[in-house]
Amino acid sequence: MKNKEVAQLLYEIAELLSLSEENPFRIRAYERAAQVIEALPQLIEEITKKDELRKIPGIGEGIAEKIKEYLSTGRLKYIEDLKKKIPESVLEIMSISGMGPKKAKIVYDKLQITSIPELEKAVKEHQLASLPGFGEKTEENILKGIELKRQSSGRVLLFTALITAKTVVESLSKLPQVKQVAYAGSLRRGKETIRDIDILCTATKSKPVMDTFINLPWVREKLAQGETKSSVILEGGTQCDLRVVEPQCFGAALLYFTGSKEHNIALRTLANKKGYTINEYGLFKLKEEDKPLAGLTENDVYEKLGLQFIPPELRENRGEIEIAAKGKIPLLVEEKDIRGDLHVHSKYSDGNATIEQIAEQAKRKGWEWITICDHSQSLKVAGGVPVKEVYRKVEEIKRHNTKNKNFRILASMEVDIHNDGSLDYEDELLKELDFVIAAIHTGFKQSEEKITERISLAMENKYVNMIAHPTGRLLGKREPYAVNMEKILEKAKKTHTAIEINAFPERLDLYDIYCKQAKEMGIMLGIGTDAHTLEQFDYLGLGVTVARRGWLEKKNLLNTLKVDELLELIRKR
Ligand SMILES: [Zn+2]
Ligand SMILES: [Zn+2]
Repeated sequence: MKNKEVAQLLYEIAELLSLSEENPFRIRAYERAAQVIEALPQLIEEITKKDELRKIPGIGEGIAEKIKEYLSTGRLKYIEDLKKKIPESVLEIMSISGMGPKKAKIVYDKLQITSIPELEKAVKEHQLASLPGFGEKTEENILKGIELKRQSSGRVLLFTALITAKTVVESLSKLPQVKQVAYAGSLRRGKETIRDIDILCTATKSKPVMDTFINLPWVREKLAQGETKSSVILEGGTQCDLRVVEPQCFGAALLYFTGSKEHNIALRTLANKKGYTINEYGLFKLKEEDKPLAGLTENDVYEKLGLQFIPPELRENRGEIEIAAKGKIPLLVEEKDIRGDLHVHSKYSDGNATIEQIAEQAKRKGWEWITICDHSQSLKVAGGVPVKEVYRKVEEIKRHNTKNKNFRILASMEVDIHNDGSLDYEDELLKELDFVIAAIHTGFKQSEEKITERISLAMENKYVNMIAHPTGRLLGKREPYAVNMEKILEKAKKTHTAIEINAFPERLDLYDIYCKQAKEMGIMLGIGTDAHTLEQFDYLGLGVTVARRGWLEKKNLLNTLKVDELLELIRKR
């Protein structure tokens, strides 16, 4: 379902046109077409396939051609040309969340602002508040938007960085000279966004490895090539460093470059207390820094320090060293422990796969069950499902389950939580579902008290099993809404509601520190990929990484249960 995407494209055209002072009727035409497509019950892809775009009111030949081009190529030359006419600086200002084209144009026209620092200065001097369409609240939002942009600039999502790093590692591992190769850094620790990629390897000869590295097809810019270290900028703008190290210190280097800095400092302090010193070359007795005592593997180094091996995801100096000294590091959950995904969308709402296709893909992933949820009726922009259709979906799933004894589909819905905390379907319908997920998709700007209250009320409904993406953040795009997570966790404990770890790359929500807190409170968590396509089932691994960063074990996740155990747990609630 690409209706929303296409509508957004048309809105963007309208906004870009309004920047270049186009005829207001043309601008209005794009806006109207966008609104029509947004509200369209049929799939825009199918209408296009049948060549019936022109039958939609408000869609003329020009717009129809643009939709066709976008749907078949994924891009639109017209929009690219429009952007070329607008000063780079205005585009940059537009990209600030809270600004948008209209406001960018106003500050450009009225205050001649052409850069983010200028914008920030103007906001701080309250020069914007008096402009049409601006106010104190807008100023506040713009400042937040600038801060968000600053934090995220130069960072990429974990998922993107992982794909890149794995490709580079794979290419290098094919070289005959390379013996060991691995990525380190925050990527190995599974941080949600990554600034740069660190790769380490051991090799019989360094030169050919470095030559290959700096000439990889994904290299956009060569920064430096040396005997032991080379640096490049990859497509997409991420810096990638490759270090060739001696085999006897591979473990020490891996430990050192995996970090975090805080973990390394704590390790060094401990080492000093024990009469050792550690660095990227190994662990040494103090004042005898030419004979390494450990360094071949990370485990050797930890062992010499009297510590259990610490998984990379825990290396943040959040108590892991003390716990490893006691031998009490938990056995963290692994992807192989997962038996099912708790949150995928089907064609009933805005997903692109049928019930049948979803089940097949889940089996291919080695899962035993899957929860198919779709958006609820009021969320029209995301194909929210009317009540009658929900019953049809439940029936289809029942038929599927009767025919397939070795795999189970759980009928579910991702039910919208209204402004007053009520749910988007009546209990009468909810009780027909195997699993109910509740979530907030509107009213993100409400007060902390209000949002916390909304979610808490939803958890009091006895049919609600899990709260999805509990903070609503979108990495680099939207800050979490104001929600008191302590109160939410208390309520979850009291009502036996699970909390989701949404594994969608921009969400990764609930995040690590709260996962740990939830675990300590005895709350169950559930990983949901929020997949809208079959390929997105692969996001599950990201959810597992977040769970591991939150110290979670197999027993803390609903996903590791057999389907009967899961249903029993739901029934008891
Ligand atoms: Zn959602
Ligand atoms: Zn969803």
